[in-house]
Amino acid sequence: MILDMFSLAGKVAVVTGSDTGLGQGISKAFVEAGAKVLGVSRSPSTKTQELLGEENFKYITADLSSLDAVSDIIGTAVKEFGKLDILVNNAGIIKREDSIDFSVENWDLVMNVNCRTLFFLSQAAAKQFIRQGSGGKIISIASMLSYQGGIRVPSYTASKSAVKGITMTMSNEWAKYGINVNAIAPGYMATNNTQALREDADRSAAILERIPAGRWGTPDDLMGAAVFLASSASDYVNGYTLAVDGGWLGR
Ligand code: NAP
Repeated sequence: MILDMFSLAGKVAVVTGSDTGLGQGISKAFVEAGAKVLGVSRSPSTKTQELLGEENFKYITADLSSLDAVSDIIGTAVKEFGKLDILVNNAGIIKREDSIDFSVENWDLVMNVNCRTLFFLSQAAAKQFIRQGSGGKIISIASMLSYQGGIRVPSYTASKSAVKGITMTMSNEWAKYGINVNAIAPGYMATNNTQALREDADRSAAILERIPAGRWGTPDDLMGAAVFLASSASDYVNGYTLAVDGGWLGR
């Protein structure tokens, strides 16, 4: 039956950036759909664990600005839950500074978390999927700035444009193993990532005025797309970046 195709019963997922915002919402969606989740973030994901229960959601802390934790993350998921079926590359940061003065430090930090680690964690997950022999799902969180230039966020735009590109590259090479690599491009969502924008009255009003749906998004708005791309309902969707944006890109 069609709704069974959306079930994640028996699946094991890693979700990065699981302590707050969109990663917490995606973890909740996966557990509600039947999966077990290993969360990863710098801060302990204690609130997410309280919300979802220790039997469904475990977490480790790691700094994803370096590659040091990559193999440990995949290894812990397999140790805790026996295998890995889904990776969500959600952890991400943004640094705002005029391009004319933008620092090398803010360039490297954003690119490392949002792009470099995302790729090598995906590679480690894909190796695990290939070892297991039953395919897998990789979902990365892209952005409106995978399509647009943005203002005062050059490293963020570079990293999110790269996410859309390497989603296609990875998909092209790994679809033959039954691995679906896709991305979700959220619109303007009310989380810590956009706090500075929402506190700037002029920018906040300009953004809201441009969203056809007439409101900022919330973590719950991503739940359906995340479960779709993690489930067998999307088995023939490859290399695509799906906008969940209240209509922003259509304008
Ligand atoms: P958020 O609440 O700031 O969440 C960011 C998450 O990334 C946190 O869990 C954070 O963990 C984790 N993280 C950041 N740096 C890390 C590092 N070095 N090592 C490990 N974890 C790290 O913002 P969000 O909106 O939910 O963002 C989630 C994703 O959506 C990001 O990739 C963001 O770019 C993307 N996105 C957001 C929007 C939006 O409008 N909000 C729009 C498009 C795309 P700690 O809390 O422990 O630091």
